Amino acid sequence: MRSPRQPLVWIISGPSGVGKGTVCAKLRELRPDIHIPVSLTTRQPRTGEIDGVSYHFVPEHRFRKMVVSGELLEHAVVHGRYSYGTPRRDVADAIASGRDVLLEIDIQGARQVKQNLPEAKLVFIAPPSWEELVRRLEGRGTEDASQVKLRLATARVELEAQEEADFVVVNDRLEDTVQALIVLMGL
Ligand code: 5GP
Repeated sequence: MRSPRQPLVWIISGPSGVGKGTVCAKLRELRPDIHIPVSLTTRQPRTGEIDGVSYHFVPEHRFRKMVVSGELLEHAVVHGRYSYGTPRRDVADAIASGRDVLLEIDIQGARQVKQNLPEAKLVFIAPPSWEELVRRLEGRGTEDASQVKLRLATARVELEAQEEADFVVVNDRLEDTVQALIVLMGL
């Protein structure tokens, strides 16, 4: 199903641990026509992650080369450690073929996309409360204690960015959040 209107770029952002990855995965399952580009990252794959599916896992030097040659629509160092970026061509191709694009990226990248493509819509996924965000981050078990601490520190700053968003959706129950996004995005 193609969008009956001009295709749009939707940026889904929000603090680490808020559940935006899960929300986007569910949205993709329900609306497979929406295009979600595979980002690049310099971090190592986690258990179960597949190169080219979860991310394109690339070494630092290759990432830097892509930045210099302008191949990335946006890029950022996330949690003060590894680089992440969105391939520009991938987004342009999807838009050209009439598909909406969904970018699940951090807030630094979101700002760059808004600057490059002012018509892009920024949706901020917010936690029901700070306590709940802490609980989710500690509970997911993919990071060690020092990484959780780092992510919580980033999350405090990231939460302030919701004022810059076009829309804010509170992620309390996954199904409700996904339904709210489907309505919002006119999918
Ligand atoms: P993780 O390492 O847990 O997969 O992702 C860490 C963070 O990087 C997440 O908050 C995610 O939104 C962000 N991220 C993933 N891909 C990109 C990207 O292409 N660009 C930017 N700026 N952030 C990204």
